[in-house]
Amino acid sequence: MALILDGKQVAAAEKGDLIAKVAALKDKGFTCGLAIIMVGDNPASRIYMNRLDKLAKSIGMASHPYHLPADTPQEEVLALIDKLNADPDIDGIIPMMPMPAHINADIIGEGILAQKDVDAIHPYNVGLFASGKSVWAASTPRAVMAILDFYGIELSGRHAVVIGRSNVVGKPMTHLLLSRNATVTVCHSKTVNLADIVRQADVIVAAVGYPRLVKAEMVKPGAVVVDVGINEVESGIVGDVDYDEVVKVAGAITPVPGGVGAVSTIMVMQAVLRDFEVLHK
Ligand code: NAP
Repeated sequence: MALILDGKQVAAAEKGDLIAKVAALKDKGFTCGLAIIMVGDNPASRIYMNRLDKLAKSIGMASHPYHLPADTPQEEVLALIDKLNADPDIDGIIPMMPMPAHINADIIGEGILAQKDVDAIHPYNVGLFASGKSVWAASTPRAVMAILDFYGIELSGRHAVVIGRSNVVGKPMTHLLLSRNATVTVCHSKTVNLADIVRQADVIVAAVGYPRLVKAEMVKPGAVVVDVGINEVESGIVGDVDYDEVVKVAGAITPVPGGVGAVSTIMVMQAVLRDFEVLHK
């Protein structure tokens, strides 16, 4: 049976560290502030916003959620972002994605002050990260690295296969693995012979959004399997990996829920603290 890579345990360790750092800042008279912007009523965004709000408060940060109606014009969202950019009580800004169709996510990303850009969506931060000059990527790929590091999983020289090439998960994941000297293969919807490629991996990161896509026969015995997927099916939430079968062949595996998702929100808080430190240098 595989070692279970328990995201809740990783999150608890990181949370303890954050609480101590935020408390130390409070003693000096500072409070870290996070602004969360949600436009419309996407149920997943609402859950994520509430989770971030609760977590920020439990860590001792100030949370400022802004829930705007679905028909809010883009200019109004940008005006709010301008106000938050200039607000000394706000250290980090995170917009909930996806936004309604009339709002251009790229323009929202460009509007956020680079130093307050929690999820690394401003082109300046994307460029720094892609060129290897910064390790600050979106929260989810950083959560994957936090889990691998917590369990001491070696990456140097190992073959990692990332399934998915989105800007928020797959691509930054690839760069982070490369930065640790893994040999990385990226697969996507046009990949031919996905199973053959995945079977060669020492480390698999699945970030597709397709329930139980990765089957046991696609996994080399002993491989490390990280499941980023969150898919709603009749029985509840499942990942992109057929957990019940893959757990029998993998060397280590993250569950869903209780894996990557449990750590992603903590990574957001870590980024707010980083932004605070940059802004108060
Ligand atoms: P996305 O933007 O839809 O990207 C999905 C990627 O998977 C695309 O690159 C797509 O290829 C690829 N793909 C689709 N079908 C495939 C197939 N049959 N074989 C191989 N590749 C395939 O999704 P995302 O935002 O990256 O999210 C991926 C999953 O992670 C979702 O389940 C999402 O809910 C979850 N997620 C979890 C967290 C967390 O904190 N745990 C955070 C964010 C996302 P093309 O590029 O060719 O279209």
